[in-house]
Amino acid sequence: MSSTVGQVIKCKAAVAWEAGKPLVIEEVEVAPPQKMEVRLKILFTSLCHTDVYFWEAKAQNSVFPRIFGHEAAGIVESVGEGVTELAPGDHVLPVFTGECKECAHCKSEESNMCSLLRINTDRGVMIHDEQTRFSINGKPIYHFVGTSTFSEYTVVHVGCLAKINPLAPLDKVCILSCGISTGLGATLNVAKPTKGSSVAVFGLGAVGLGAAEGARLAGASRIIGVDLNSSRFAEAKKFGVTEFVNPKDYKKPVQEVIAEMTDGGVDRSVECTGNINAMISAFECVHDGWGVAVLVGVPHKDAEFKTHPMNFLNERTLKGTFFGNYKPRSDLPSVVEMYMNKELELEKFITHEVPFSEINKAFELMLKGEGLRCIIRMEG
Ligand code: NAD
Ligand code: ZN
Repeated sequence: MSSTVGQVIKCKAAVAWEAGKPLVIEEVEVAPPQKMEVRLKILFTSLCHTDVYFWEAKAQNSVFPRIFGHEAAGIVESVGEGVTELAPGDHVLPVFTGECKECAHCKSEESNMCSLLRINTDRGVMIHDEQTRFSINGKPIYHFVGTSTFSEYTVVHVGCLAKINPLAPLDKVCILSCGISTGLGATLNVAKPTKGSSVAVFGLGAVGLGAAEGARLAGASRIIGVDLNSSRFAEAKKFGVTEFVNPKDYKKPVQEVIAEMTDGGVDRSVECTGNINAMISAFECVHDGWGVAVLVGVPHKDAEFKTHPMNFLNERTLKGTFFGNYKPRSDLPSVVEMYMNKELELEKFITHEVPFSEINKAFELMLKGEGLRCIIRMEG
């Protein structure tokens, strides 16, 4: 058994002291895991738009000082009281939303919106005792979405950890702990395109390309990528996107452009932008009679969805999804297996890599809209 069990661990963490200011690598104390908690050593983490959004803290409550990070992979160091499913040495993916396996949502086959462990971006403490497990000289440092992976060690509720195949390379599968699974699941689990169908993907960031990857796996014959940034198109070709539409190149609304390209509309659309106009277009561009649109992007807090009710009466369906409808503990291990079986390709999502000491570079890349995923290596 490791000598750190039951002890406070001192390690490096990237602390966000203030909104929008570069993170500072600090020595933090990480308390041992309490009831139903697990302490893990993070090996790789990546940066997702949600981290940047809450770090910028432009449109939401801010909790600082905080340790961000939620897309990651690690190894269990020790477990707290009541944890029986995980043991030191297990390989895990932390997830920003959880699965308690006991609530009505967890028992429902349809839902992944666990009542106990559903994402909460305002909470900066652990559920068990409403305390933080991070501190610097006794001063609390707050958690982010229950994961805080920008730290060499972190403490996570057992319900937010997926135990995965120990042979899976953690520097690749870490990106399955958020964005890629979200897009992939939105297509495979919610939009469910059939073989030979047409799919429009709005927003060609990592989430949208995860959705495109799902369309490719489902055997869609046409995958239409829609983005305002034409530089996204070159990369998207690697993901099987067959046609591109930049709404800025047309005078008419993009839904009309797509309807003309597809003889009345696409069979499925998946929106991965967070932009309300793109959400409306994504709904209105699906074919009447059978088209299904799925919203994934997180909208501005004041956004309102406006469309004519006839669009529904004409048998178009609008859905929304959270984390691609995957239940983190039950379903994520099988997504890792899809990668291990070479069905799912992950390498093409990874465009950059930096050591932990240069974590701020990952923020700069995302702010410039460059690349898809930047892996942050915790060691060496
Ligand atoms: P990203 O910023 O890398 O990509 C978004 C893309 O959308 C960009 O290429 C941008 O140019 C494009 N875009 C913006 N407005 C557009 C418009 N009106 N029309 C067409 N394209 C437009 O972001 P990402 O990391 O891929 O995340 C995408 C969205 O998914 C974000 O809103 C994120 O918060 C959300 N998200 C949701 C969940 C969930 O569970 N529902 C999980 C993770 C991320
Ligand atoms: Zn639950």
